[in-house]
Order: sequence, then C-alpha cells, then structure tokens
Amino acid sequence: MEWFHHTKTGIESGVKRDTPSDLWVKCESCKEVVYKSDWVDNLSVCPACGHHHRASAREYIALLTEVDSFREEDSNVSPADPLKFSAKKKYRDSVMSAQKTTGEKSAVVSGTGMMNGQEVSLAVMDFRFMGGSMGSAEGEKIARALQRALDRKIPAIVVSASGGARMHEGTLSLLQMAKTSAVIGRMREAGVPYVSLLTNPTTGGVTASFAMLGDVNIAEPGALIGFAGERVIRETIRQALPDGFQRAEFLLKHGFLDAVVPRKDLKAWISNMLSLLTDRVV
Ligand SMILES: [Zn+2]
Repeated sequence: MEWFHHTKTGIESGVKRDTPSDLWVKCESCKEVVYKSDWVDNLSVCPACGHHHRASAREYIALLTEVDSFREEDSNVSPADPLKFSAKKKYRDSVMSAQKTTGEKSAVVSGTGMMNGQEVSLAVMDFRFMGGSMGSAEGEKIARALQRALDRKIPAIVVSASGGARMHEGTLSLLQMAKTSAVIGRMREAGVPYVSLLTNPTTGGVTASFAMLGDVNIAEPGALIGFAGERVIRETIRQALPDGFQRAEFLLKHGFLDAVVPRKDLKAWISNMLSLLTDRVV
C-alpha cells in the first residue's frame, strides 16, 4: 500500500478519498482492497487472506446448481404479523424494509435444481433479510423444501445463515424448530439424505434445530456457529473461553462438524457426498 504514503507527502495531504464502491471491495478481515470483478470471480472470498464474506441466497443457489436449472417454489410465502409486534419499529415495517432491500419475500429462498446431474431440493437462508432470522414463513419454507425432498426421494440441502429464531413472532418462531426437525426425522426413516451447510453466522434456534441435524453437517471456513452468544456463555460459566471458540474449525476439531469446506469446493464436495449417500455415480 505504498501509494497511500505518497498522499501524505504533499500530493493530497489531509484529503481522505473514498474507494469507489462500484470498482473496489475492501476485505473486512485483512483490509486488502480488491478489484470488484476479481472479488466476484473469487465468490466473495478474499484472495489475500481467504476470509469468506457473506453471500446472498441467490449467490449460493448459483454456486450450487447448474445454470438455469433452479425452479423456485413457495415464492409467495412471506412473513405475517400474528402478534402485531412493535418494538423500536413495527415488525410489519421491518419486513417491508427487508423485502425492499433484498428483493426477497422472506429470509429463505427454496426450490429444486440440478447439481452435477442430481436433482436436489434446496433451501437457502439470506442473512441480509432481518439477520436471516427464522419466523413462521422461513420455517414453513424450510419444512416444505425438506418435505419435497421426502416426497420425491431426492436429497435435501439447506444452507443456513441466521441469528436464530425471530423474536417478533415469539413462540411461533420457536415452533419452527420442532416442525423442521420432525420432517428431518421422517426423512431419516425413509433414507432420504440431507446435507446441512452452515455459513457465517449460524446461531440460536437454527443451530439448535435443522442446521445441526444433517446426515452430514459442514461449514464454510471461519463461520461463527453456536447457540448462545460468547458473552452470555462467559458470564454464565464465569470462565475464559478458548481462542476460536464457536468458529467452524474449533467445532470440527471437537466433533460438532463433519468437514469445513471452502466455498469454491462446495459444489463438488456436496455432490460427491450425495453420490456416496445415494449410491449414485457422479
Ligand atoms: Zn482479506
């Protein structure tokens, strides 16, 4: 970053220049500035330090399925406001604002698509939509995606990115944990494979239900995964927590995950795993 020093020696001393956001992206981990086109080519993973930045639901769908093979389902399922909840902001307004920002109706995009010649049922959470929180609509879409896999005897893949259950819907959000888990139980009895991919972050009621109930549970490098937050745990048990606590690599080491897979390898890795689970030759 030598050229920053030049600005201090007289050319533009004292002038702070913003990076044009349409041309460059700055890594939030190592602060390296990268050409946006290189960034996109590298799937929003920093080429300098390997930090996996958040990707949208549609980006994961594009990454995991063949071009033009994805058929969206349940696109009309969107959050209701059963409790007429209001805190700093009305729940209804928060939902409308998230819908406008993301272009999605809820925090889950689901459907079917082809992955290396294998049809899969896919549900992907989008963290940009109210922190990927799980309300009734999100739980319903995930349960339906799992049920679709069960009905059609095709593998299911759920990509999680969530702050947990959505408080705006109270107990109705918590019920989604039981609802999704029940379908997974039926899938297991029927021998329909389910791969869960946990991305940064996956926490709360999502971790405590479908995200950790895959036949295979995998995560992206560095993903924060947990139930309660680090501060709450530290203050409850009154002990210092180890370095890297609640990160994917730590969880892998302690047996909570089956693999940590870089984003560029996800499609091939999951596809190979499905071929093993379904006895199908890729
Ligand atoms: Zn970086």
